Amino acid sequence: MLKQSVIELPKVGEKRAQQLAELGIETVEDLLMYYPFRYDDIKERQLTEILDQEKVTIKGMVVSPPVVNRFGYKKSRLQFRMMQDHDVFNVSFFNQPYLKDKVIVSEELAVYGKWDAKHQSLTGMKILANGQAGDFAPIYHVNKSVRQSTLIDLIKVAFGEHSDEIEENLPLSLVNKYRLLDRKQAMFAMHFPKDKEEYHQAKRRVVFEEFFLFQMQIQGLKQTEKAEQNGLAIAYDNDRLKKFIDALPFELTTAQKKVTNEICRDMRRPSHMQRLLQGDVGSGKTIVAAIALYATMTAGFQGALMVPTEILAQQHVESLNELFDPLEVQVALLTGSTKAKERQQILSELENGEIDIVVGTHALIQEGVEFSNLGLVITDEQHRFGVNQRKILREKGWKPDVLFMTATPIPRTLAITAYGEMDVSIIDEMPAGRIPVKTRWVKPPQLTQVLTWAKKELEKGHQMYVICPLIEESEMLDVQNAVEIYNQLTDFFAPDFQVGILHGKMKNAEKEVIMETFKENELQILVSTTVIEVGVNVPNATLMLIIDADRFGLAQLHQLRGRVGRGSQASYCILIANPKNDMGKERMKIMTETNNGFVVSEKDLELRGPGEVFGFRQSGLPEFAAADIVVDATILEVARKEAQQIWQLKNWQILPEYAPLVAYLHLGEEGNRFFD
Ligand code: ADP
Ligand code: MG
Repeated sequence: MLKQSVIELPKVGEKRAQQLAELGIETVEDLLMYYPFRYDDIKERQLTEILDQEKVTIKGMVVSPPVVNRFGYKKSRLQFRMMQDHDVFNVSFFNQPYLKDKVIVSEELAVYGKWDAKHQSLTGMKILANGQAGDFAPIYHVNKSVRQSTLIDLIKVAFGEHSDEIEENLPLSLVNKYRLLDRKQAMFAMHFPKDKEEYHQAKRRVVFEEFFLFQMQIQGLKQTEKAEQNGLAIAYDNDRLKKFIDALPFELTTAQKKVTNEICRDMRRPSHMQRLLQGDVGSGKTIVAAIALYATMTAGFQGALMVPTEILAQQHVESLNELFDPLEVQVALLTGSTKAKERQQILSELENGEIDIVVGTHALIQEGVEFSNLGLVITDEQHRFGVNQRKILREKGWKPDVLFMTATPIPRTLAITAYGEMDVSIIDEMPAGRIPVKTRWVKPPQLTQVLTWAKKELEKGHQMYVICPLIEESEMLDVQNAVEIYNQLTDFFAPDFQVGILHGKMKNAEKEVIMETFKENELQILVSTTVIEVGVNVPNATLMLIIDADRFGLAQLHQLRGRVGRGSQASYCILIANPKNDMGKERMKIMTETNNGFVVSEKDLELRGPGEVFGFRQSGLPEFAAADIVVDATILEVARKEAQQIWQLKNWQILPEYAPLVAYLHLGEEGNRFFD
């Protein structure tokens, strides 16, 4: 059984099993699939190209019998000669006389040690295990208690005992179509490839398998979620909706119209809507959300809008109330700081259906809230909440239509991995009349010049955000704190302009007051930590100053930049940074070169990897053993297409060709292991 615990293997006791568990290896299959993160290409190291004192692995043939000289009680030297191609060199090991048995004349050996170029000799540190002595020595992530050689031994044992149980899990048609190695061969070659070519073939097979199996599950989930009996048909009132849209203060962009149609069509259908709404910062997702919520209400259902912060919730309630002003729509705000009495009131009105739309933080659906008839749930800045939410909704037995909105665009590869079971709507156009934000990167000594220039802009009646990364003095990082900057700016701009401050340690009520005064232009400058990162909308603010900008990720910088350029005035984003490394410089450069959120997020993914980008690590992005959604993006697309085609077949689960796949995925038994 591949699924049995490693403890069943010879040489593995309780202690070893525990050490392996620390590496995430629990079953035999985990061990077999614990692939190396790189290989040392031993064959290609020629003696002449090895640097003096470099630590290397050298492979060669033993050409003289090993001799041990002992000095005193514990000291010894083991010496022999090896030959690589036609060059002979000396090898010595100090105080490891027992290694003598491993050195056999005329046999191949791989020794890791320090090279002395002048004397053409190697001071050996270890003799590589048999499996490591191929041309490619696998190198694994290990820890103190499990060493490379131990791991290799165990992997070999596991293959020895269990390789017969490794069965093909892909349909043969796909194996043939893409000329894939069979599963057993590929898994073995991932650890011990004969040569580069075999490694590439093994990798290609393993990556395809991972993506394909994952996509099979995702597409399966999509089908169940969309099944008719699972959803609601929201029969909204077309006339009222049209009237509402016509009365908006602006005309919707073509892209907004298109996604609104997609969403409304989904809602009207009895099947379950699972839709991801992507759009760059400022592209106008909120109004689309408002239309969907209003439509829901006209159909007699309730709607919920969930956002990541209380400030944002507050702001959404205000803008919804404005939009719905002449219409009779009951909108409520429910957050962690809602007072107990008011909360009671809201809860009962939600339960008896008096409230049409509730806006709150993500805790909304977790706090024992009962709805009279929930029809639509919209989440803003979805990546902060992650896939868990879908699980919560399912567990509560609610079947509302669901619309997820992302703060900034997600690269396609991430989207089809993390949200593969959803349909996607994209707003790929900005409202007319927007002037792209101009972004500049300056070094810290130029701050005073920047402020002098900013003063001129403020004199035109505009407002400015100033963002600082941390609020408290940190010993480790030399980050200026927001308070210090606040004081500095207050001095600089007095008496002409008023400065306010917003940070995470403030009470929500205080934050609201500050936000409100900034909106009313009683404050012209708002110094803030990233609490304003998401969603705030003050079109009169045209300047964004980001201090220590290199401490932010690209997606975050782009999101911050999106706070300006929301009106018809020219706007500026100034990045103040002195990046210490190339990655930091690269980030600043990208920001000054593009305003396109899709481009920014692709770059972010390339630079930082999927785990870091958008906080996906916490939100349940699957971890692949060998595949990388950036590097292997093409295979991901192919695997997804194949999985979709299989799910389109009727009753594919009972076709013999797919029997191994069905067995491997445990369809219908354990459910979806990636999601639960
Ligand atoms: P985001 O997609 O970042 O959530 P918002 O929904 O906050 O963007 O919209 C940004 C700004 O653009 C808001 O002030 C909104 O009123 C305005 N807006 C949205 N759609 C349009 C449009 N079609 N024409 C003009 N302004 C629009
Ligand atoms: Mg928004």
